[in-house]
Amino acid sequence: MTAAKKPPSWLDLSQPLNDRARTQLCPRCRQPILRSLVGHAAALDVRADPRVLNPLEELAARLQGRTTYCLRIRPHLPPRLTDRSPEHIRAGRCTHLVVADHHCTRTPALAEHHTASATDQLF
Ligand SMILES: [Zn+2]
Ligand SMILES: [Zn+2]
Repeated sequence: MTAAKKPPSWLDLSQPLNDRARTQLCPRCRQPILRSLVGHAAALDVRADPRVLNPLEELAARLQGRTTYCLRIRPHLPPRLTDRSPEHIRAGRCTHLVVADHHCTRTPALAEHHTASATDQLF
């Protein structure tokens, strides 16, 4: 098996190919979201709210069944989303920004009239 290092130029790069966090609009409710592939073995296409949570808000989000992620922002490198494992949270040394996955609060029907001209991409 040969693993391609670079995607071919005709490939649509608007789909997340790695764990770089992109800012997009939720195609359903048109709220800004962070979109990224999280995890290396079985990457998930994650849509997260860009609002940073404090520990109490993270707890509330997890009690609502939402998954939380570390938003890793480092100088000279693109922002990345990584899974917050129980081990990572328990270690208590995390200096990352914490965000939770995006749960749509609106039905697709409400945003339908936007989708004709708008694309998935923001900025
Ligand atoms: Zn972290
Ligand atoms: Zn949404």
